[in-house]
Formats: sequence, structure tokens, C-alpha cells
Amino acid sequence: MSEGPLGDVVIAGGGLAAARTALALRSYGHDGGITVLSEEAEYPYDRPPLSKDVLLDRDASATCLLAPEDAAAAGIDVRLSHRVVALDLDSKVVVVENEPAVAYGSLVIATGTRARSLPIFDGVEGIQHLRTMADARAIRERLAPRSRIAIVGAGFIGLEVAAAARSLGCEVTVVEVAPTPLCGPLGPTVATWLQGWHTTRGVTFRCGVSVVAADVRASGTTLVLSDTTEAEADLVVVGVGVTRELDWMSSAGLRTHAGLVCDATGRSSAPDVYGAGDVVCLHDGADHCAPVQHWTAAADSAQRVAAAMSGLDLDDDVSENYFWSHQAELRLMSVGHAPPDVAPRITSGDLESGKFVAEWEVDGRVSAVLAANSPREFLQGRLAFRASSVALSGG
Ligand SMILES: Cc1cc2nc3c(=O)[nH]c(=O)nc-3n(C[C@H](O)[C@H](O)[C@H](O)COP(=O)(O)OP(=O)(O)OC[C@H]3O[C@@H](n4cnc5c(N)ncnc54)[C@H](O)[C@@H]3O)c2cc1C
Repeated sequence: MSEGPLGDVVIAGGGLAAARTALALRSYGHDGGITVLSEEAEYPYDRPPLSKDVLLDRDASATCLLAPEDAAAAGIDVRLSHRVVALDLDSKVVVVENEPAVAYGSLVIATGTRARSLPIFDGVEGIQHLRTMADARAIRERLAPRSRIAIVGAGFIGLEVAAAARSLGCEVTVVEVAPTPLCGPLGPTVATWLQGWHTTRGVTFRCGVSVVAADVRASGTTLVLSDTTEAEADLVVVGVGVTRELDWMSSAGLRTHAGLVCDATGRSSAPDVYGAGDVVCLHDGADHCAPVQHWTAAADSAQRVAAAMSGLDLDDDVSENYFWSHQAELRLMSVGHAPPDVAPRITSGDLESGKFVAEWEVDGRVSAVLAANSPREFLQGRLAFRASSVALSGG
């Protein structure tokens, strides 16, 4: 066991947050053991390319986040195919499926999220989710010209898959229960525009309906929709959000809500146990629960946890909710939360050209900015958003 203040650090999880926490701990001077326990069979890799470059056969080799040689050079012991299934807070030990238990001085939980499934697809063969490299490769194999792809859920991942599948010549149908894709995060004006953009590229939308049955027939998989119509597909990709696997954490006595409840520096409800990345939520004990989501927030959270564990203070979190989405040639970038009942102002370009910046204002302050194919103009909007956030917090 290491003599440093943290003791030996064990990180449960093998994605962005796990890799970033491990590397940051070393860069902040932790010289004790660092062990990463990942259930996956591959070294940590980046997920955003899975629904973009990997589907389009573009170079995805740059997606490794912690290569074996880098891990070895930093003295990080990465154990693949090691799935954490339980935790004993008193004896400071994590239980690993089919492997010896691992003792820790400090534990970081960075187990991220899983693709959410729908009960209607239980036991139906050939339904595909997209979370891992293996999922992405399996989908890619089926994206042949003229193959019929049904995508259930018009969230960011669903629309990215739809765009890639169209680029590869597939016939694409998107089934979405809401009246427009991404209506919640983008608001009706931009969501309607986005639907039109995909429709122009040949995507068929079935919005305002849900899947009530799924049958595998000789001709493919038939989705029966709530309006009694059907959609036939050679491949069904389900993209209906994520869940967090929290049972082993709550059974151990850790506080959980939508995620593992942590403070802004990643401290959980138990001493020497931290959370980083998408598995975490910040819950105020009442109504407000803010799960960490999107790449930048997960990476920031890892950096913040490693700093707090190392006794360092990073600047206050700006919580921008920044994300990007690449849907074929469309590049979306966004910060903030668009209020659904406020119409955005187009501050640059126009919707028709597909190149614009939309800003949402509440009480004279910019609460969200979304840019389509306008990275430079987005920076200006982001600065306005930051200025509003600082003014709001009295900074
Ligand atoms: C297809 C796809 C596209 C995306 N595109 C974008 C994008 O364009 N823009 C954006 O901002 N964000 C995007 N994201 C989101 C972004 O990738 C995530 O926010 C980020 O991966 C979160 O990192 P994480 O390390 O917290 O979790 P994850 O990346 O989920 O990593 C968690 C890791 O822990 C492992 N694990 C889970 N449970 C256990 C266990 N019990 N024991 C051991 N290991 C375990 C998992 O197998 C996984 O390797 C995308 C996500 C996906 C899936």
C-alpha cells in the first residue's frame, strides 16, 4: 500500500473520465499506485467518433485515450475485462467479477452510462444500441446501400447514425415519440429546422408515435407504431437515452439519485470515494438534480476530481453544458440550456442556408447559444453566454 495521502488509487471504469483522472493524478504529483478496472476488453477510447467517423470508415485510430505504452510510462495499471460488481466501504475493497478483490486507499467511480433499452425490444433479435466500439462496428457492417435502417429515438446519437447511414446510401426511417427531433434541448424553432435538414437529405421521420411491437419476420424486423402503421427494417438502432448502473454503489451505502451523488469536486457521500464523468449527478437534496453529461463536462469533471484529490483548487466550475454534434456535413455546437418556451434570436446567418447562430435570452441574459456550421460565430455567442453567466453569479 502506498504511503501518500491518497494511498493506492483504484479507478472503476474504463472510458474518458477514468483515463483523464488517472493521467491528471499523475500530472498533479500522485506517486502511489493507480489501477484502472475496466469491464471492456479494449484500452480506453473516445466515444464521439463511434456515431460519426467509425460509421463512415474515417480514420478512428486517434480515438484511443490511454494507449498501453502511455499507461505503462505513467505507471498506470490498466486491467481490462475487470467488471466491478460490489464495494465494501468499511474494508475499502472493490469486488471484481471472476477476479480477486482489489483494495484501495482512494476510489474513483467513473463507470459512465449505458444505452437505455425499451422493454418492447426484450428478446427481439438483431436490435442494436450504440455505446461501444463493438456496437459501432456491428452497425457499420450493416450499413449497405439501400439497406433499410430504422432508428428509434431522434436524439443526437440517433440523428448522427441517421446522417451517416444516409451518406452511405441507406434508406433511413427515424421513429420519435416527440413531435420533432430534439425538441427539448433545441426548442421547436431549431428542432423543426433540423428535421427539415435531415428530410432534405432523404431521411423519413415518423414523429409523435411510439413503437408498440417489434416482430422479426423473413423480410426483416417490423416495427408496429402507435398509430397502427408499420415500419420495416433490415436493422433497428435504438437510441433512446442512457441509464446509470448504480445498484452496487447504493448497496454499498453510497448516496445515489439519477447518478452517483457527488459535490462539485467529485466527493461522494463516503470518505475516500469520488465520482467522475457521466456516472455522477449533482443533487441538491431537494428537486434539483444535474447529471454530468456530454464529453466536455465529463473531461472537466475528471480534471476537477483529480485536482481535489491532490489538494488543489481549480477555478469555479462554469457549467456551460457545452456539446457538439456532427451529423454528416452539419456541425452543431451549443452551450447553455435553451428554455423551451422562448423563441431564439438568429444573431448570424439564417436557417434557410443551414449556417446560423441562435441565441436564447431570458431577462436580457443569454441562456443558450446554438451554432450550425458557424464555429467562428459560435465563439462570439459563447463569450456572450459566459458574460451573462458571470453577471448572474455576481462574478
Ligand atoms: C456514440 C456516442 C457518441 C457521442 N457523441 C458525443 C458528441 O458528439 N459530443 C459530446 O459532447 N458527447 C458525445 N458523447 C458523450 C460522451 O462520449 C460521454 O459524455 C463520455 O464518454 C463520458 O465519459 P465517461 O468516462 O464518464 O463514461 P463512458 O464513456 O461511458 O465510460 C465508462 C466506462 O466504464 C466502463 N464500466 C461501466 N461499468 C463498469 C464496471 N462496473 N466495472 C468496470 N468498468 C465499468 C464502461 O464499459 C466504459 O468503458 C457520445 C457518446 C456516445 C456513446
